[in-house]
Formats: sequence, structure tokens, C-alpha cells
Amino acid sequence: MSAASMFGDRLARVRARMRDLDVDALVLSVGPELPWLTGYEAMPLERLTALVVRPDDDAQLLVPRLEAPRVVERPGVFSLHAWDETDDPTATVAGWLHGADHIAVGDRMWARFLVELLEHRPDARYRRGNDVVGPVRAIKDDDEIAALRAAGAAADRVAAQLQAGDIPLVGRTEAAVSDDIGRRLVAEGHTKVNFAIVAAGPNASSPHHEPGETVIAPGDAVLCDFGGTMTGPGGVGYCSDMTRVVGAGGSAPAALVEAYAVLHAAHGAGVAAATVGTPCSAVDAAARDVLVDAGYGDHFIHRTGHGIGVEEHEDPYIVSTNDTPLVAGHAFSIEPGVYPPGEWGIRLEDIVIATE
Ligand code: ZN
Ligand code: ZN
Repeated sequence: MSAASMFGDRLARVRARMRDLDVDALVLSVGPELPWLTGYEAMPLERLTALVVRPDDDAQLLVPRLEAPRVVERPGVFSLHAWDETDDPTATVAGWLHGADHIAVGDRMWARFLVELLEHRPDARYRRGNDVVGPVRAIKDDDEIAALRAAGAAADRVAAQLQAGDIPLVGRTEAAVSDDIGRRLVAEGHTKVNFAIVAAGPNASSPHHEPGETVIAPGDAVLCDFGGTMTGPGGVGYCSDMTRVVGAGGSAPAALVEAYAVLHAAHGAGVAAATVGTPCSAVDAAARDVLVDAGYGDHFIHRTGHGIGVEEHEDPYIVSTNDTPLVAGHAFSIEPGVYPPGEWGIRLEDIVIATE
């Protein structure tokens, strides 16, 4: 599919959802929706960037004049407008919203611009932009699935190096191993590294531990959770994300080894449950029940997974409060974990895609 028809197709799906929700206008700024819909990724500047989508009009993209050279124009997808330093860009956007009573605003637009918009349009009803775009973006097309597979395969190769012992652990700091993993993610084709958590021994009991100066010792179980972004269709990046726990020589604590067998079973139960038509909440329960039944429920302190695409975390969330049924094209993580405070931590994470 050409980039123009790809973005055009996405806009058509978003407009259909706007009509379903009776949303008159969608205002997107910095954040992942903009590149997903237009191919243009705005810098998170204090200057306003805004894409305004109406159900029945052309989409309009407003950017600061100095950013305009970075925009690849896509006639038929959006028309480009630049504002100068002495203009009031929020007033321009408010003008484009004429007659719109129900306005959806991108989740990542600076509060500053929403506050200004509220002053221009206090009469309108507002809702989250993600209500409109999130469920559409969650269903990946074939090109996006290919991009996610390529990013995932690159992360798999780094995981294989880790598990084969090619990434030295003992005697190095967590931070050094994190840098090493990051370099390998790039060497395997990622455009950038999003995170590389390396948590040794007790540090892993904090699921998002910041890799630091802790020196990895023999017998430590080391939790590594890493991912990056790889350029995909239309020049838009897609993410990888995986977690493996590896032993740094010696022998890991017996309680950890015992729990890992249960974790492995919980992960398998989550993957097996993740079929088209199954609610996300049931996928969470399938993984969670295995851990709860074995007495680890209190130490599984997060949801089972999250959607993934142009963002590391996006819809659909695999959590007990989300009864959305899986459909073909949903891409998400299955990542149960066990974290006895101050003792150790384990998590096993893979990305799966629901297909017919
Ligand atoms: Zn992860
Ligand atoms: Zn994850």
C-alpha cells in the first residue's frame, strides 16, 4: 500500500469512529497518533502543533513555521499550515473548530493548549482523543504486523545473545549491561532504544528498576526487560518489548527457581487464552489464576499486558477491568511477574498478535 493510501485508510477509519461517537472534531498534537495518521512526528516543543480532523472536511495540520520543512506533505491526507512567532495558533485551531460541539483532544497535547482552547470554546463538550483513535490504532493491518514482527525478531536476537551468555554479566554493573543491550538492539536494526531495564538480585523486586551501579554477582538472577523502535511502513516506528530472566552463574535462590516454573506456566496460560473473541480481562485472569493458585497472587502486582505498536504501551490493555474482546490484529504483551519485596523478581514477557 502506498503511504498516501495507508494514511488515507487510517483517517477514514478514524472518521468512521468519530461518527459512531458523535465527535465533531479531533485535535491531535504531540504524541503517537500524529505520526500514525500523517507520518509526521512533532517535536515536543512549547510551540503548538495541531492536526484537526473533522468527519466531513479535509484534515488540517498546523505547525510552527520553523518546523514546516520537516513535514512531508501528503495531499489528500492533510493540508499544511504554518504559524509565525507572533501569531496565536490556538485561536487558529479554535477557528477551525467552528460549529464543533463535541471535541476530542489528543491525550498528549500539553495541558497549556487545552486550557487555552477551553477559553476559546467553553461551550463545547470534551473527551479524550484516545477514545477515538486508541481502539482503531489497536487493530494492526498487515504492514504493521510485519513491522512489529521485524522489531520483535530483532529483540529476540538480543535475547538469544543474553541467554547464550554472549552478554557478560558477572562483575559488570547493571548500567553497563543495560548499555550493552541497547547497543545490540540498535545493531540488530532498531532505530532507537526505548528502555533496557537490567535488575540484579533483590533490585528486580521493583518491576521498573532503574539500572544503576549495582555490580552483578554470581548467583544473581538478572531481570532484563528491553525494547526499541524500528522504522516501519510510512517511515513510522514500531516497538519491541520483551523480558527474560537469566542466571549470572552460580545457583539462583531455590524459591525463585520454584516460582519461575509457575511463572512459565502462567505465561503459557495467558498466551493460550489469547484468542479472537476472548475478553482482555479473561486473558489477564488466565495468567493470574495460575499464580494465585500457587500462592503468588500478592506478588503479581501489575496487569498481565499492554498493547504495542507505535507506542510501547497502548490499547488494548490486558487487565481485569477491560472486557474488550480480542479481534484479529490486536498486538499485545503477555508478561506475568512475581516480586517478593526486597528478595528477587521475575517476569516473562513476549509479544503476541491475535489472528483468526
Ligand atoms: Zn517489557
Ligand atoms: Zn511490556
